[in-house]
Amino acid sequence: MSNVYTFGGALPQDNARSDDPRTRDKTIVGGKGANLAEMAGIGLPVPPGFSITTEVCTAFNASGGQFDDAPRAEVAAGIAHIETVTGKAFGDPADPLLVSVRSGARVSMPGMMDTVLNLGLNDATVEGLAAASGDARFAWDSYRRFVQMYADVVLGLDHYRFEDALEIAKEDNGFFTDTEMQAEHWQALVAEYKGIVAEELGRDFPQDVHEQLWGAIAAVFESWDSERAKVYRRLNAIPHDWGTAVNVQAMVFGNMGDTSATGVAFTRDPATGEKAWYGEWLVNAQGEDVVAGIRTPQYLTRAARERAGAKPLSMEEAMPEAFAELGQVFDLLERHYRDMQDIEFTVERGKLWMLQTRSGKRTAKAALKMAVDMAGEGLIDRTEAIRRVDPMALDQLLHPTLDPSAVRDVLTRGLPASPGAASGAVVFDADAAERRAALGEAVILVRVETSPEDIHGMHAAKGILTARGGMTSHAAVVARGMGRPCVSGASSLSIDMTRRVAKIAGREVAEGEVITLDGSTGEVMAGAVATIEPELVGDFGVLMAWADEVRRMRVRANADTPADCKIARQFGAEGVGLCRTEHMFFDANRIRSVREMILADDEKGRRTALAKLLPEQRTDFIGIFREMAGLPVTIRLLDPPLHEFLPQGDAEFAELAEVTGLGVDHLKRRAAELHEFNPMLGHRGCRLGITYPEIYEMQARAIFEAACEVAETGDAPVPEVMIPLVGTKRELELMRALVNRVATEVFSEKGRTLEYLVGTMIELPRAALMAGEIAEEATFFSFGTNDLTQTTLGVSRDDAGRFLGTYVEQGIYARDPFVSLDIDGVGQLVALAAERGRATRPEIKLGICGEHGGDPASIAFCEAQKLDYVSASPYRVPIARLAAAQASLS
Ligand code: ADP
Ligand code: MG
Ligand code: MG
Repeated sequence: MSNVYTFGGALPQDNARSDDPRTRDKTIVGGKGANLAEMAGIGLPVPPGFSITTEVCTAFNASGGQFDDAPRAEVAAGIAHIETVTGKAFGDPADPLLVSVRSGARVSMPGMMDTVLNLGLNDATVEGLAAASGDARFAWDSYRRFVQMYADVVLGLDHYRFEDALEIAKEDNGFFTDTEMQAEHWQALVAEYKGIVAEELGRDFPQDVHEQLWGAIAAVFESWDSERAKVYRRLNAIPHDWGTAVNVQAMVFGNMGDTSATGVAFTRDPATGEKAWYGEWLVNAQGEDVVAGIRTPQYLTRAARERAGAKPLSMEEAMPEAFAELGQVFDLLERHYRDMQDIEFTVERGKLWMLQTRSGKRTAKAALKMAVDMAGEGLIDRTEAIRRVDPMALDQLLHPTLDPSAVRDVLTRGLPASPGAASGAVVFDADAAERRAALGEAVILVRVETSPEDIHGMHAAKGILTARGGMTSHAAVVARGMGRPCVSGASSLSIDMTRRVAKIAGREVAEGEVITLDGSTGEVMAGAVATIEPELVGDFGVLMAWADEVRRMRVRANADTPADCKIARQFGAEGVGLCRTEHMFFDANRIRSVREMILADDEKGRRTALAKLLPEQRTDFIGIFREMAGLPVTIRLLDPPLHEFLPQGDAEFAELAEVTGLGVDHLKRRAAELHEFNPMLGHRGCRLGITYPEIYEMQARAIFEAACEVAETGDAPVPEVMIPLVGTKRELELMRALVNRVATEVFSEKGRTLEYLVGTMIELPRAALMAGEIAEEATFFSFGTNDLTQTTLGVSRDDAGRFLGTYVEQGIYARDPFVSLDIDGVGQLVALAAERGRATRPEIKLGICGEHGGDPASIAFCEAQKLDYVSASPYRVPIARLAAAQASLS
């Protein structure tokens, strides 16, 4: 086991050609080092170099910054390797070897140390470089670059002082661009740079090339523990103990005049996925000049240049030979890695050198296109194509998105709570939203936060903006479920309800003024920004069809309305996994009857009110069954605590008093009686059905009457009646008897018998533990993992915002357990309930209907438990289909 692995040079002792897997192992030599060795191994022109392993980094940082003897000797051998291949010597004043020192973790990681180029230059070797290359300007240009980079990156000096000095030098000489600077100008600048270093540090710029080298290596290792790097790792869940490798590599020079160049390229277009070379290059330039923005880079291909109407020649035109060779390299790399590559290259006096390759980042659209195209080209097979697309990335594609070419006037930025983009007139309450939407106006509901009473307004709105609340706030969860874009927690937003004006980061937006939300980025913009519609055909359709072929689990949708069901079917849902009946109760016309029912003094009063609700509920179910023709529909009977429906404020009480003929005081007293200290653990779920069986009777009747009616004209639905919040077998036994009785009644009235199921949600730990017994009464279980998470963790989702962020940051939970299932804890209950339920009733149907049904990691867990289906919000159905397919493959 070595500490250092060499690459490049095609020598027999070259590690890159050896069988040692460590030479190409990203965990050992980092991503950059592994790919450099790999490229050298397949015969591509890679400047010789070596990688110092991540293990050396870990030891170095653990020992407080000490190098052991072994790595010291191996680095010396690595330098010797480069010297042999290049025929130059490190520190040789006649013809010096120069190297770059590059960091390289397992995954590319912003926040790590920047690369130092041209290391090995000093006052003596710069003369040698000038003589050997015959180009003094190039030599001094390289030296000034080196001093600045080394001072910035290794010595920690502020780069502005160097940039200022360069600007002043150009001004003094009357130059506009760097290219006008000649050898003597660069030479004078180097003297000035060294003066800055001496002044700032109280010592001279290091002239000893070995001191330079070890200084740079130590700086790379130390940068692993920099605050920037730590923050990045925390945000991206990268372990702190990985460490980084260091790559030391012979310099090749893109700044040796007009036959030299440097560039970056993608083998396919990373934005569209189109199979066309894509990239930028610069003549007579080095390193990061292309991305630094000092000079405008040129197009790689002639076609791209012409399309853009640009003048400066493309590489295809200016350097046809090097370009042709580059094209061959692109093909070779794609065939080798079987993926789109992101490449860095340099041309030194007409000769092409490869400096980096990696799988390129891409948009969701490009990922889809490339996966489908590459399968078509035979580069990968279909299962690999399915694996290639990140299901979560589909989210970007399934909602209208902002036209990338449109101008944006950003007011503020909140949390990207529900993806998609929407423009509309600002409204400050749900009723106004509904009123204006009914007149055909697009509205954005702007609230401090939302609650269940706002549902109708959220439904009517094109988008939702809140000042408070996190990614799992009411607004966020409901908006995602409805497929409405939502920006939550926009803390610079306040609402003045008396003037009906929103203050957003110092600017005022009055009710009725138009704003635009981007729920994928959290941006809030003034005015309307053009959007583009999602495309569900083409590559998307092809890949989803492949995914459906390999998928074992069924995918259903959580859908409460016919409109939701319609979207769900378009997205490929194979049934409804959760239809929440309470949302229907909030409808403006019905809420009165609901309140009348709740506040009634006795069963008779309740039955009178329920009789008014029955036809309404039946209509809802008819709509849903028609949309879901022939597919299973799981309907959850009333679940939330009744007080959620209570009147708010004197006006609503007065109105209700009129309708019911009961006094306002009486109604208020009844309402106060319904108050609960912990409503989540209170009088809700099947507890309502046990105490007020007439409510569930009405709902069951509405379901079966609707099913019979739909069966008359079309495909009979298969209702799956779901009893919520069951903790004991007896509860389910009572509720199931009730449902069966109503079914029998309705079927005999209608003269028709339909298939249906009665089952329960598993959302209490007791239900999971007692699943064996409960299964005697249930033909299906649906894991209600939202409540199961709340009740298992003892954490209220609606109150968790205050501490959950800290919990995730400190690694107490790996991820937000309401977003991704807590597999270690809650997962055990799911596994146990599945096992015990099946022991009692082997054919029991098992599914999941929490938010987790749309989360790929949770879906993989469901596959491992061999659940029958997952249910996700309509817009997440394609994500679930792809994730379920990937889970079947692994
Ligand atoms: P990053 O990880 O930030 O991309 P790199 O280590 O890839 O940093 O270096 C940035 C750029 O520096 C490269 O794209 C390349 O242009 C240049 N560079 C790095 N090493 C060399 C080298 N040995 N010869 C010439 N240019 C180099
Ligand atoms: Mg790079
Ligand atoms: Mg629940």
